[in-house]
Amino acid sequence: MNAWLRIPLWQRVIAALILGIVVGYLWGPGAASIKIVGDIFIAFIKMLVVPLIFFSLVAGVASIGDLRKLGSVGWRAMLLFLVTGQMAVWLGLAIGTLAQPGAGIDGSSVALDAAALERARERQETAQGFEQMILDIVPSSPVQVMADVNVLPLIVFSLLIGIGILMAKEEGDPVLKIFESGSVVMQKVTMVVMELTPFGVFALMAWVAGTLGIDALKALGQLVFLNYLGCALIIALFYGGMIKFIARQPVVGFFRGIVDAMAVSYSTASSNATLPVTLRCAERNLGVSNSVASFVISLGATINMNGTAMYLGLATLFGAQAFNVQLDMSDYVTISILGTLGAIGAAGIPGAGLIMMVLVFGAVGVPLETIALVAGIDRIMDMMRTTTNITGDAAVAVTVAALTGELDAAELASADDI
Ligand code: ASP
Repeated sequence: MNAWLRIPLWQRVIAALILGIVVGYLWGPGAASIKIVGDIFIAFIKMLVVPLIFFSLVAGVASIGDLRKLGSVGWRAMLLFLVTGQMAVWLGLAIGTLAQPGAGIDGSSVALDAAALERARERQETAQGFEQMILDIVPSSPVQVMADVNVLPLIVFSLLIGIGILMAKEEGDPVLKIFESGSVVMQKVTMVVMELTPFGVFALMAWVAGTLGIDALKALGQLVFLNYLGCALIIALFYGGMIKFIARQPVVGFFRGIVDAMAVSYSTASSNATLPVTLRCAERNLGVSNSVASFVISLGATINMNGTAMYLGLATLFGAQAFNVQLDMSDYVTISILGTLGAIGAAGIPGAGLIMMVLVFGAVGVPLETIALVAGIDRIMDMMRTTTNITGDAAVAVTVAALTGELDAAELASADDI
């Protein structure tokens, strides 16, 4: 047992991925019989959705209290987080529309659970008018909303509770503490569930390889490639551009200064675990003042996740293409809003992006079975998403520091000599 746990999780997951493909390939359609193991893994993931969103969104909104105190640093950072988050989802949507990664999978051969089909059908039939859409996001019964895992109204409810806590000031503190501590507890629970990943990945990959065959594997390979491409574009264009044109600092110096944190984030797939290294790089190598770095980077590790936002857009299109769900422009807008919110709500831990897929998929009628298809390859993509996420935190910290006179530019320039 101990020997098993001593192997880093990501290595166990990659081994399970390869083994799953080989076993599925040799076993053929019979491999479907072990899909139940993957289904159990996904059922545990679904279990996390409601409490994770509820606790972390409320705590996230309530932390805006500190933002007010920080004034000019706070609103600039928040603006950059939101604008880049939106741009990232649209990038994911653009890549998914152009490359059609899910088109290679014939989702009709995947047994959908009846409830998912029912939901998709209902959605098509009601082809809701604007009024219905608004009514649907009002959480008329919060408990019902949670029981139905109805994510849109849950988000509205969470935002309102967060605002209520802010308005209650000191009297809201005890409730705030409950949510802050609740979100830490939920992160720990998620980590326990993530220990199931190797088994889930093995079973799901065997199932995909055995029943859907090489075409499906190719499609998944393409999704991994597009995820890396999207993240690379965000890092090079969004962050490179931000450093060069808004912060007006040397781009190479920035990347040299942050490279340690990038390496740690890639291997841990956790923005939270990387936080101490990101902070050290920002202060020591990039010349960001302590107050700006600690505020922007710790807030960013929880809410600024552009790699995750991009992926949520891309993965939703992947699912829609695989299961032949037609999406129109209003769906794209819904995805862009939910992708950004999902990235804010995702905790900085491995697999958080996978959990947030439930949020986006449900709202636009993409079957949740898509999660079973992509869960096997999520870890490899998560590593790159996380690297993108933490690089974004550092880029925003440098930019905000440069704009507010909190940057030691000589330090950043000398990152060249490191
Ligand atoms: N693992 C990512 C992070 O920690 C979140 C995700 O799963 O996309 O930033």
